[in-house]
Amino acid sequence: MEADAAADRNASSRSSTIRARPRDPVAEMTLLSDDYARGLDAADPLRELRGEFLIPRHGDAEQAYFAGNSLGLQPRGARAYVEEVLHKWAAEAVEGHFTGQGQWMPYHELVRAPLARLVGAQPHEVVAMNTLTVNLHLMMVSFYRPTRERPAILIEAGAFPSDRHAVASQIAFHGFDPARDLVELEADEPNGTISMAAIERAIAQHGPRLALVLWPGVQYRTGQAFDLAAIARLAHAQGALCGFDLAHAAGNLELALHDSGADFAVWCHYKYLNSGPGAVAGCFVHDRHARSERPRFAGWWGHDVATRFRMGPQFLPTPGADGWQLSNPPILSLAPLRASLELFDRAGMAALRRKALGLTGYLQRLIETRLAETLQIVTPTEPERHGCQMSLRVRAGREAGRALFAHLGARGVLGDWREPDVIRISPVPLYNTHADVLRFAREVEAWRDAC
Ligand SMILES: *Cc1c(COP(=O)(O)O)cnc(C)c1O
Repeated sequence: MEADAAADRNASSRSSTIRARPRDPVAEMTLLSDDYARGLDAADPLRELRGEFLIPRHGDAEQAYFAGNSLGLQPRGARAYVEEVLHKWAAEAVEGHFTGQGQWMPYHELVRAPLARLVGAQPHEVVAMNTLTVNLHLMMVSFYRPTRERPAILIEAGAFPSDRHAVASQIAFHGFDPARDLVELEADEPNGTISMAAIERAIAQHGPRLALVLWPGVQYRTGQAFDLAAIARLAHAQGALCGFDLAHAAGNLELALHDSGADFAVWCHYKYLNSGPGAVAGCFVHDRHARSERPRFAGWWGHDVATRFRMGPQFLPTPGADGWQLSNPPILSLAPLRASLELFDRAGMAALRRKALGLTGYLQRLIETRLAETLQIVTPTEPERHGCQMSLRVRAGREAGRALFAHLGARGVLGDWREPDVIRISPVPLYNTHADVLRFAREVEAWRDAC
């Protein structure tokens, strides 16, 4: 282990300038050895957590599952929570709302505190409700209030289609023209990523016309992470509001949403938060809006908790993010989130982040030393500019990329594919290992050598 650790330090100090230095075949072979990867896994303080997940099989072995950015794996504890709901429904029916453990009336409260810890918010600033795109629309109803002088929304070019559809349709809904009032910031860095300077220039340039800056915590295609507090500050300095889509950031980065000053944020729970397909989503409303009198689309579950069941005709919003709820929550969809959040609490986001940087750093070194002619790392490699995901462009183009992706899948190494030529690989610290990462690199080498 001593020698391995030394090799590790050498490799990582070399990694940023790897092409400028002479190759070191011994260090490269060390990186590629099973013992090296196994040593790192044995020293991992979070190694027990993998056993808390159901890892999909590939024949007699486990998959090397790198698609947690798309659908996180099932926590073993999820089933018991879902079954608890099913049993309660069977045994108690409508009384289940008000009786015993896990009663449904306050059920969403069960996830509030761990969710607030996870995203760095005050408890009343977060709520689990609806799905991501629904929450984005609800937030824009309140926090995108365009005027003739200030009608515009700034997003990144190449945003996730659902976000683009949402903002474009909101602009049109208010009688403005998305062709003019949706400002899409083009990438300015060679890999298709966006510099902070470009964001600053765009916010300054469009400032007086900007009603809203909507920005991703981690961009889904490039894997780039952003300085959210800086973006919120720039938006506010221009008199715009600022919201974040954290679909790829929640459960991935250490977030400090309250301190970032964002007006709102939305995210889903089926990616890094491992709560199952279509799981109920998350929403943050900053404390300064807790008693907001802005317009909102209301439903009975957002009404003041104390008087909700008087069933009166007047809507009086309950303070905080809860006041944006519409319906009584989908209990079966909330249940797995409890199991997942327990694991996040057990590990702590800081420790998860440390491990994630270890995994991505190892992946990066393997690519730079062994696979640089095959794969180009699109994602910024500076730790503060990425999360778990590494977007890897297949240099030989789309056809070769599809073939490589198929080869990986056939060998039980599962990432995901983004047109035209990118494979996304996301080692997730809750359940991925250095051995998984090594397996990916080996399979890319095997494919390349067979070409
Ligand atoms: C995953 C993702 C979505 C998906 O939206 P749903 O409403 O959950 O289907 C939307 N936006 C971004 C940025 C995403 O990454």
